[in-house]
Amino acid sequence: MDFDYIIVGAGFSGVVMAERLATEKKAKVLIIEKKRHFGGNCYDCYDKAGILIHQYGPHIFHTSSKDVWEYITRFGEMHIYHHRVLGVIEGKKVPIPFNLNTLEELFPKALGERIEEKLVTKYGMGQKVPILKLRAENDPDLKFLAEYVYEKIFAFYTEKQWGLKPEELTPEVTGRVPVYISWDDRYFQDRYQGMPVEGYTKMFERMLDHPNIKLLLNTDYFEVKDEFKYKKKLIYTGPVDAFFDYRFGKLMYRTIDFVFENYPKENYQEAATVNYPNDYGFTRISEFKLMTGQLSPTTTTVKEFSREAVVGTDELYYPMFTDEWIAKYREYEKEAAALNDTIFLGRLAQYRYYNMDQAILASLAAFQKL
Ligand SMILES: Cc1cc2nc3c(=O)[nH]c(=O)nc-3n(C[C@H](O)[C@H](O)[C@H](O)COP(=O)(O)OP(=O)(O)OC[C@H]3O[C@@H](n4cnc5c(N)ncnc54)[C@H](O)[C@@H]3O)c2cc1C
Repeated sequence: MDFDYIIVGAGFSGVVMAERLATEKKAKVLIIEKKRHFGGNCYDCYDKAGILIHQYGPHIFHTSSKDVWEYITRFGEMHIYHHRVLGVIEGKKVPIPFNLNTLEELFPKALGERIEEKLVTKYGMGQKVPILKLRAENDPDLKFLAEYVYEKIFAFYTEKQWGLKPEELTPEVTGRVPVYISWDDRYFQDRYQGMPVEGYTKMFERMLDHPNIKLLLNTDYFEVKDEFKYKKKLIYTGPVDAFFDYRFGKLMYRTIDFVFENYPKENYQEAATVNYPNDYGFTRISEFKLMTGQLSPTTTTVKEFSREAVVGTDELYYPMFTDEWIAKYREYEKEAAALNDTIFLGRLAQYRYYNMDQAILASLAAFQKL
């Protein structure tokens, strides 16, 4: 059977593209997905205790794009939820990212107020200052703050998460850990934030529910690629190095080992996510019910242990953001750009740290170009 488009991968990047092509262009689309389910990393399901869990780690939807929000809420209602994270610092659970509340909770009053005043004067209320930038300050109080945050919140966490020192990563990653000059202790400040009331998987199911979309699960594209033909384009959302059979060598990724635990009590911790920057082997514990709003007499949490991925065996979660790996990706990117009949889209194919909204936005933009 011939298709107009073949899409490899049924995560947000592939499924948004499929939905748009089928609905707007009336195109015939085949999606080939290696996993036994659709949804990619955003897949959620109910565990044995009946709690809605995210199989590949907690996913909180947040975006500043009205277009993305309006698009995604066509496929399911969102429960409005603003994510809050605490970090265990010197035995106290304090707001993360480090903000003026954190300053107040950790530092003596006079010192805290002095630092607050200097931060506001120098950068302005509401600004997010990357920690590596703050470290370059000459003012002794700001330098003290920067060293404190670097040592107690940033350095070990980064090492656990990436296996590297913060300086070895690109600003795209380190910029995600700022000092936030604000009393707003939400983790994200995007205008639109929420969790799908019926879960992400249900949303995907609705997006895929179109007579022109055929879905082949449990199938590796490379094993079947000669069996299916496309008339227009191939849209590839898998790892870019695999597409080119690792011609320039394997790219590096981080993976995560998830440990799920169910507790016979209503609630486990004080916030949906608690980070452990200095203790234990895991980076953080998240409690699903506190994000989804589900009511139940038991609760399920997940601990995350990060490590280097074995390419070909492990799930590939985070592209490795160092100059060395970005340079290697650029070699693949050049090859990809030379292929006129193939579009490389998404986190793995573009070797990018995409949030869900960015992946959706990239797919909507690629669709517009088509
Ligand atoms: C632990 C973790 C937590 C996250 N939390 C958040 C969050 O809170 N908020 C947020 O906005 N974003 C979050 N993200 C990012 C989010 O997961 C991504 O933005 C999103 O998954 C990108 O979708 P994608 O389709 O590009 O990639 P994926 O979801 O990875 O989909 C790619 C699909 O391609 C398939 N595939 C690969 N190779 C082949 C092949 N050869 N044949 C067939 N199929 C193949 C894969 O099986 C996969 O299903 C998180 C990511 C991780 C890892």
